[in-house]
Amino acid sequence: MSYNETPIAYPAAGANRPGRSRRPLGIVDHHMAGYLPGTSAMFMNPSTGYATNYGIGSMRSGVFEIHEYVPDDQVAWGNGNDFLNTYAVSIEHENNRAAGPASKPTPEVHELSARFHAALALKWDWRIDGRVQLVLRDFPNHDFYERSVTGFGTEFNVTGHRTVALKDCPRDLDMQWIVDRANTIINGGTAPQQLTIWQRQEKEIRMPYLMKCDDSEGRYGEIGKVYYILVEAATVTEVQSVAEANNLALRFGDAVSVTYATFEKRLGGKPTVTPV
Ligand SMILES: [Zn+2]
Repeated sequence: MSYNETPIAYPAAGANRPGRSRRPLGIVDHHMAGYLPGTSAMFMNPSTGYATNYGIGSMRSGVFEIHEYVPDDQVAWGNGNDFLNTYAVSIEHENNRAAGPASKPTPEVHELSARFHAALALKWDWRIDGRVQLVLRDFPNHDFYERSVTGFGTEFNVTGHRTVALKDCPRDLDMQWIVDRANTIINGGTAPQQLTIWQRQEKEIRMPYLMKCDDSEGRYGEIGKVYYILVEAATVTEVQSVAEANNLALRFGDAVSVTYATFEKRLGGKPTVTPV
């Protein structure tokens, strides 16, 4: 596992950015609902029409990096809100497109993001109550949709896209964990909270869930079929009717597409699939 904390330039196309300079006051966090290579390609493509400032994820296994689409001292069109575009550094986080536990960005993405949040706070001297620190406020009910965000930069300096947009971005990104960890880094300490994200992730992974087989080679199931996974007992049950799948989805959320790699990681190998 390695982290490259120095942003790498992947400049957004000229058509995707206003080219205005500014002094940022804080951060707006996003999730990609996808992966770093795709997001970077999208923002470099002039037909996209917008771009955030940064994206965090991995281009190859085990290496995590930060892509710079628009430098932090320039306005980016990433937040769908003029006030936050002007005053916030927008950061995308790589994650699975699926909903549910699988959509949470990895612990590594959280870790690199926390380091980057800390670096930005120190660089721009973001102070709340007289000292450099990050403070999160999340308004998932879109309190500030189409408006300027009261207190941003003075009472708090980190928020999620959903504060100003009618969408649930950054969904399962753990912004509170990132802010806690970043503050630990700012204060020069090691991070007892660092374990938390792993533990939280582990807990979520162990919850029962529905998955849709996404393995063209049929190593664990039949492509497109829905399975009920109980990790605790390492059992996989084939869901045989749409009615049953809908029933289970009410309790466990919609089925998520699972590749063989994810399946193996979660269940530690190929368990027996039992019919209902
Ligand atoms: Zn977003």
